Parts: sequence; C-alpha cells; structure tokens
Amino acid sequence: MNDIFDIIIIGGGPAAMGAIQYLDFNHPLKVLILSDKPIGEFVYNSIKTHDTIDGLFFYEGKKPEQLINFYNKLIITKKIDYKIDFIKNIIKSDNLFILKGSQSKYISRQVLIATGMQNKMYKSYANYENVLYLAGKLSKSDLNNKICVVIGGRNSGTAAAIYLSKLCKTVYLIEQKSKLMCKQKYLDRLSLRKNIITVVNVKDINLIKKTKLQIKSISLTTPEKNIIIDLDYILVYIGLTPNSNLVNSICKLDKIGYIITDNHNETSCKGLFAAGDVTGRLSQIITCHGDGANAIYWIQKNIN
Ligand SMILES: Cc1cc2nc3c(=O)[nH]c(=O)nc-3n(C[C@H](O)[C@H](O)[C@H](O)COP(=O)(O)OP(=O)(O)OC[C@H]3O[C@@H](n4cnc5c(N)ncnc54)[C@H](O)[C@@H]3O)c2cc1C
Repeated sequence: MNDIFDIIIIGGGPAAMGAIQYLDFNHPLKVLILSDKPIGEFVYNSIKTHDTIDGLFFYEGKKPEQLINFYNKLIITKKIDYKIDFIKNIIKSDNLFILKGSQSKYISRQVLIATGMQNKMYKSYANYENVLYLAGKLSKSDLNNKICVVIGGRNSGTAAAIYLSKLCKTVYLIEQKSKLMCKQKYLDRLSLRKNIITVVNVKDINLIKKTKLQIKSISLTTPEKNIIIDLDYILVYIGLTPNSNLVNSICKLDKIGYIITDNHNETSCKGLFAAGDVTGRLSQIITCHGDGANAIYWIQKNIN
C-alpha cells in the first residue's frame, strides 16, 4: 500500500524552493519533492553561462553555486523528503492524485507542478551526442582547445557563446535574422571576445555526420555565401518549451502549452497547483520563488 502524501511538489528548481521556504511547520504535513534531476540543476546550468546571477536582489553579483547550496540546505533544514524520479503522468481518482513515475507510483491529496521549461530541440539533432542544449553542462576539460557552434543569437545563445569563448578555441554564433537579437550588455561583452565569429542571416543549416552519433561539420547558407565549419560541439539556444505534458489530460493549458492558473496558482483541476516557468510567467528566479510561495500558501489553506 502506497503512503498518501498531503502535498507532492514536482520539480527541484526555484519555484519548488520558493514553496518549500514558505511551508508552515506549525501544521506538520507529509510533503514529498520529486524531481528527475538534482536540486537546481537546470537553473545552475543556465546561469553558469553568465558572469553572475542577473535580477535576484540578494544574489546579484554572487556565484550560481551559492544559490544551489542555499536550496540544498533548505531541504535539509526543513527535513523534506526528496526523491529523484521522472513523473510521466498524473491522474485524479476519488479526490486523490496518482502520479506515475519511472521508478514508482505516488499518491497525494494535492500536487504542485513546478516542472519549468526545457530548451527546444532543433530538427532531429536530439540524436547526436555532441549536440547539447545547455553550455553550462560542459566542463573546462571538455572544452579545452575545442570548436563550438552556438545556434541562436538571442540573450541565452549570446551569453552561452561568451561563456564558451573563455574556455574553448573558437566559437561560431549563428543567427537566422540579419543581426543578433540580444541586449546591448551582451553585445558589449561579445565585442571583447576575439575568438567568437558571428554569422547572421543564416537561411539554412545542414549537418555533416562523422558517425551515427557524432556531427563532424555544419554547412551554413547565407544570401552571400556557403560556409562549412568543422566542430566539436553544437549548442542549441532557439527558445524554451514548457514541461506540461504530464498534466495535459487533467488541466487546461494555453496554446503554447503553459499551464493556466488562477490567482491562487490553482489549475482548472481542483487540488492541482502550478508555479514558475511552466505557467508562462516572467522567466526569472525571483518570479519563480514568489510563485511557489503563493501556491504553497493556498495549498496549506485548503488543507487547514
Ligand atoms: C540560459 C538561461 C539563463 C538564465 N539566467 C537567469 C538569470 O541570470 N537570472 C534569473 O533570474 N533567471 C535566469 N534564467 C531563468 C531561470 O533559470 C528560470 O526562470 C528558472 O530556473 C525557472 O524555475 P522553475 O522552478 O520554474 O523551473 P526549473 O528551474 O526549470 O526547474 C524545473 C525542475 O523540474 C524538474 N522536472 C521537469 N519535468 C519533470 C518531470 N516530469 N518529473 C520530475 N521532475 C521534472 C527539472 O529537472 C527541474 O529540476 C535563465 C534561463 C536560461 C535558460
């Protein structure tokens, strides 16, 4: 017989941590966090590409590691049960939520979805080992003397190119529009990096394979010329998509796939709450902390 939890939180990012911070311990509840990755992994690999964390008052100028350490301490001090598992889907039966994970089944009275977003896949590139979606995942030794191609010249892609250029030999930054679409601060930093080559107006990209799982080169078509670049890694930054598939049959999503919630962060399914990037709010750590806090406040009110 499975344990019945009062609250299950799915996700281990800023929205889930905002919720944990605001849990009221005067009413001890049975709470479980389920995340398919270690706490804060997505946000860590995202912000690692900046010099510092942007837009988070007390962490402005601090290193990403400090935020992740804080999250991990929070789980320990609040004595929250935490398990790594990927939740495939959720159904509601007799006012209880049944969560089907890769490893186990879980039952809870209320659920908070804080599953964030993931980088959009580019064409069928997902099958290749040297195509990645977060530059922060590559270590210094992976990148030593290497050539990287970053696809996508918005803020995230340009920040990633700047980060990579400090660790590898050459970075190509590829954009389909006629100029990079990022903030001036990134353009200023980019102009100082001599080993970044920007290619704009790219109308077509083709892959040249080395093996079944490795890409050797990339061929770019612009109105003026065709370019072939030999490479070690491709990093894809062409936008993000919400991780909402696990609840698409039990609550309403908008056209893009964001989970629709009310002012209490409750979805169209009673007892099912959502917070953070998966709801389509401003994609920033500070917003996610607040959103998670609001959700848990109303979840506890429902229980009390
Ligand atoms: C390149 C980049 C740079 C950024 N820089 C900044 C910055 O400087 N400052 C700032 O404030 N914000 C920044 N952001 C935005 C910030 O990272 C996000 O707003 C924030 O991480 C979203 O938090 P979240 O908790 O909603 O989701 P996430 O941080 O994405 O966490 C979601 C969690 O859910 C887990 N999960 C997903 N699906 C499942 C499932 N089915 N089962 C189990 N677990 C699951 C994931 O593994 C993850 O642990 C940046 C984002 C990117 C991409």
